[in-house]
Amino acid sequence: MSNHVELSIVVPLYNEERNIARLHNRLLSIIDNLDISSEIILVDDGSTDSTSDMISSISFADSRFNSIFLSKNHGHQLALTAGLRYVRASKAVFILDGDLQDPPEMITHFLDKLDEGYDVVYGIRKNRQETFIKRQLYWFYYRLIKKIANIELPADSGDFALINRKVLDYLNSMPEQNRYLRGMRAWVGFKQTGIEYDRSARYDGDSKYSWKKLFELAYSGIFNFSDFPVKFITRLGVISIVVSLFYLASVFIKKIWFDAVPVGFTALIAAIVMFGGVQLISLGVIGEYVLRIYKQVQQRPLFIVDKVIREKELMNGQDIQS
Ligand code: UDP
Ligand code: MG
Repeated sequence: MSNHVELSIVVPLYNEERNIARLHNRLLSIIDNLDISSEIILVDDGSTDSTSDMISSISFADSRFNSIFLSKNHGHQLALTAGLRYVRASKAVFILDGDLQDPPEMITHFLDKLDEGYDVVYGIRKNRQETFIKRQLYWFYYRLIKKIANIELPADSGDFALINRKVLDYLNSMPEQNRYLRGMRAWVGFKQTGIEYDRSARYDGDSKYSWKKLFELAYSGIFNFSDFPVKFITRLGVISIVVSLFYLASVFIKKIWFDAVPVGFTALIAAIVMFGGVQLISLGVIGEYVLRIYKQVQQRPLFIVDKVIREKELMNGQDIQS
């Protein structure tokens, strides 16, 4: 295969042994029919099942499939970040989940939009096959973040997207440790558009996003792209001072004019508990930002690569910095 690749497809995989055969087939039929030269970059995010063996043999058999193995489970966003660093394509990169929830066949529509002059084309999830609670939470979260984020974050779009080389270079050059790629992608700017698609259920297996990971991702969206939480607690502080001043004034008036007895103990306890809670939450909010600063100054590598199949070609003479 010639060294010139126009399109790279990056797929992060964590314990996806039950989806790989199917994924492989669908990807094959897509790249065989595309009229641009393509490569696929499979990223094994520290899987403990047979994912790494399976993608190794795929890569050894077909030089269009490259595999990167991370040293441990780094999480979806970092696995993607790793894959993006290895992209050779001159034209664009297509980002895809390994569980076939994002139909890879959409690539042709995405490419059409790119040819119309867009720099980023992302998928918009028209409907989801998730549990009722997850659907409600997703719906609420995307509307919340749209309201409070400093950037134009498209609602209901994930990492499923086609990104041209120019935007990819910017993404790769962004040094932030805490990566919320769909936010970073929106932050870069240029011409972006979305295409609606039906998000199917996972082909097989269970979600690899635990609730903890899901909340961490949601937090990253809010704290990396919004000043709202920290501004909100300042406002809350101001409001509570104003309210308590009024209350104080009313107590003074009662005392001077009506000589009323001190107000109840219950109200006092209620106020202490309430303001105690507000203060703890406020500390937590500030803590979130401090934690992010701390991680940033630590400057640890974002990911550690254990091995790469066909590293020479992939590195293409460039130094991959994690
Ligand atoms: N994934 C990963 N590392 C992780 C969790 C997930 O590489 O720590 C991959 C996973 O194999 C899949 C994609 O990221 O290809 C999306 O994950 P998943 O389908 O579990 O998330 P959901 O669709 O449930 O949000
Ligand atoms: Mg999924």
